[in-house]
Amino acid sequence: MEASLSEIPLSQIFLSGLNAVEIDQACGLHETYRAKQIYSWIVKGIPDFDAMTNLPNPLRDQLRVHFGSLRSSSVSSALEDEDGSLKLQIRLRDGAAVECVLLEDIEGRKTACLSSQVGCPMGCQFCRTGSLGFLRDLGPDEIMEQFYFLKEKRGFISNVVFMGMGEPLLNLEAVRKAIALLSDPEGLGMSLRKITISTSGIVPGIHDLAEHGPTVRLAVSLTTADEALRNELMPVNKRWNLAELKIALMEYQAKTRERITLELVLLGDRNADKESAEKLLTWIAPLKAQVNIIPWNSVPGLPFTEPSKGQLKAFSDHLASRGVVCVQRMHRGRGVMGACGQLGDTLRADH
Ligand code: SF4
Repeated sequence: MEASLSEIPLSQIFLSGLNAVEIDQACGLHETYRAKQIYSWIVKGIPDFDAMTNLPNPLRDQLRVHFGSLRSSSVSSALEDEDGSLKLQIRLRDGAAVECVLLEDIEGRKTACLSSQVGCPMGCQFCRTGSLGFLRDLGPDEIMEQFYFLKEKRGFISNVVFMGMGEPLLNLEAVRKAIALLSDPEGLGMSLRKITISTSGIVPGIHDLAEHGPTVRLAVSLTTADEALRNELMPVNKRWNLAELKIALMEYQAKTRERITLELVLLGDRNADKESAEKLLTWIAPLKAQVNIIPWNSVPGLPFTEPSKGQLKAFSDHLASRGVVCVQRMHRGRGVMGACGQLGDTLRADH
């Protein structure tokens, strides 16, 4: 059973993972309006208690004494790509490290790609994070702080995608809490339609999300509709196969009436041919889905090749000719190893 706030030692509570009511409780304020003031500062992205200038000095001192610091993590490095992408390495309270990325598209839309775990247990063969193994889940405060650090550096963020390090449906309660904070009308107020959970295909997690919400956009890293190849590239398929995955997605779609995104990491030598496109078309048929084609981003030491421009065009033309909505994801963030599948310099902060 989850511990209530009052049972958790103050040194382990970080306010960036709480809403106004919980802040009131954690701080023992019994003053709703003071709790709301603190919450509104946190939502603005201020880094410490000193910046909460409308709080009386004794209260700020008290907060400092009780909680030590406002945030539990810090930025240990920031890398900017020529294309405008920003990758931050975040040092967590126990010395572990995660990465998050801010991607800006040509229309100026800023998307924060957030991590939900330190490393990832899923072991997708084409993914750098997967090759590093798994250390632990992140707390809601650690997820939200990634968002605040990116916001501090780049201003207003329009979209969030849980597609950084980790499998969000294996840490669903913390991700749910972060989504509740992102979409809180009293706080950041982000529309749920601007938030995407990207999963490798955790079927019970999809059912759970369909049943209990929140109704966010769902993306699934499908990669291929060939059972044997998916078993090889994505070990999750040995646990929940393509048929089970499709049933879960149909349930999600029936409950939410939302279009699902199927992500296809195209590997030049494995799943970019016409036969793979045909298998996908057959599999996708009952779903209302958009296909995002993600050209594989090279990762040193992994035995795959990037698809050629010709392969990418032929593959997406083939899908489009049969009426499938198909988007090709740009190679954003590659210069800083911040593109899809490239995250995870290390699971421990270097400095
Ligand atoms: S692709 Fe996603 S689910 Fe698969 S190993 Fe990488 S981070 Fe984990």
